Amino acid sequence: MAEKKELTMEELVAFTKRRGFIFPSSEIYGGFAAVYDYGTYGVELAKNIRALWWREMVQKNPDIVGIDSSIFMSPKVWEASGHVSGFSDPLAECKKCQTRSRVDHLLEEVGVFADEKMSDDEINELLIQNAGKVVCPKCGQKDFSSAKSFNLLVQSNLGDFTGKMDTPVYLRGETCQGIYINFKNVLDTARVKVPFGIAQIGKAFRNEITARQFIFRKREFEQMEMQYFVHPDNAADLYESWREKRWNFYVNILEIKEENLQWHEHENLVFYAKAAWDIEYKFPFGFKELEGIHNRGDYDLSTHAKHSGTKLEYRNPQTNEVFVPHVVETSVGVDRTFLAVLADSYTVETFEKEDNNGEKSEDVRTVLKLPKKLAPVKVAVFPLMKNKSELVTKAKEVFAELSESYMCEFDDNGNVGKRYRRQDEIGTPYCITIDFETLEDGTVTVRDRDTMHQQRIAIDDLKDYLRKELVK
Ligand code: ATP
Repeated sequence: MAEKKELTMEELVAFTKRRGFIFPSSEIYGGFAAVYDYGTYGVELAKNIRALWWREMVQKNPDIVGIDSSIFMSPKVWEASGHVSGFSDPLAECKKCQTRSRVDHLLEEVGVFADEKMSDDEINELLIQNAGKVVCPKCGQKDFSSAKSFNLLVQSNLGDFTGKMDTPVYLRGETCQGIYINFKNVLDTARVKVPFGIAQIGKAFRNEITARQFIFRKREFEQMEMQYFVHPDNAADLYESWREKRWNFYVNILEIKEENLQWHEHENLVFYAKAAWDIEYKFPFGFKELEGIHNRGDYDLSTHAKHSGTKLEYRNPQTNEVFVPHVVETSVGVDRTFLAVLADSYTVETFEKEDNNGEKSEDVRTVLKLPKKLAPVKVAVFPLMKNKSELVTKAKEVFAELSESYMCEFDDNGNVGKRYRRQDEIGTPYCITIDFETLEDGTVTVRDRDTMHQQRIAIDDLKDYLRKELVK
């Protein structure tokens, strides 16, 4: 079987729309920039990604517990964390087409790396130094307005009945603040001992300047974050061990091809950070951040303690030592993981097929070679013909039984070959066909997505067979 290698973003975007994975938001009104909806199969894939992350982080680690904090928090949280004053990106406008871009990204394209701490003046200086090299990604022009910091927090008018918005409320810009402000609650209730972690999956909102990267950069997105609270002396070692565990998650659990992953060390750390590395994935537009793993020191707990007046410390029950734990953070987006697993498993392959007379010919299929545990639909059930009621009744019985355990799809439309292609495209590992032989001997045809091999299995053995195969 020959595989076509390069995948373009256009191809992937068109595929996700055509096969019901992702729709642009508010499409009937012309769309809504950098906001997307998950469709029928997208919602299943995203759910499976979340479930695997939760299983690996919370379920399998006795020292990690979960929470689900609210999207709205007191505005004081965002003032204390520094987001109100400092959560901003530098923006410049193309003088020709008025497209707004992030200046740090434009500079990156020409090999210049801006420091996160840089003032507007310093960033402008860099932009001027690189004038003539930096180009507008939309129109290719090289003339820009001066750069200005643009705060990424999304404001709301929650509880503001005057319309004056004296104290704006924010939709959370990251989920981890909800973890820090619940540190004491968890410590008091969850019987955890340092080192321990708090994990959370939830929506975050950012007024992203660039809105051209499909679900890689959304304005409403979802994060899976874990904050591991550690003794300062152990922070460096535990940081290394989390780097290793997170890398293994991608390679062994999500089965992402290792050659499509790489480490990237941050050139410029924010002042409180001790270390910051990203795991990058080779998206169709190049290697870009998938997950950030940060050693954040005691910055988060100390700042919230200072601003709230609540002690956020830990007392070692054996030694009575009291200290502010340091934080090792692992932070990844559901949406970026979704894009990475799709890009990694999207395959167009040429294969040899044989017709009923034994004639061989070449055919092409698109197949999502997703790990089975991520597949949106695990089993498709087909009656060979839709106008034979005995076959349809039997197929419905099989569907009813298997759908107790798995996400299944019932399809009686068109010829079986076409039904296989459709399931290949959405990554369904097994297709089961009920035919006349089934009515005689109680066996069905089970067809494997990757090998396209077909075998007959007794209906009574199906559950066992699938249980063994689908955990792989
Ligand atoms: P970038 O440099 O790409 O803007 P970031 O460094 O600001 O990302 P973090 O604040 O570290 O990102 O967020 C942690 C993770 O959340 C990222 O690694 C990414 O997977 C996800 N994420 C962040 N911003 C977005 C977004 N706008 N859309 C989708 N996912 C996002």
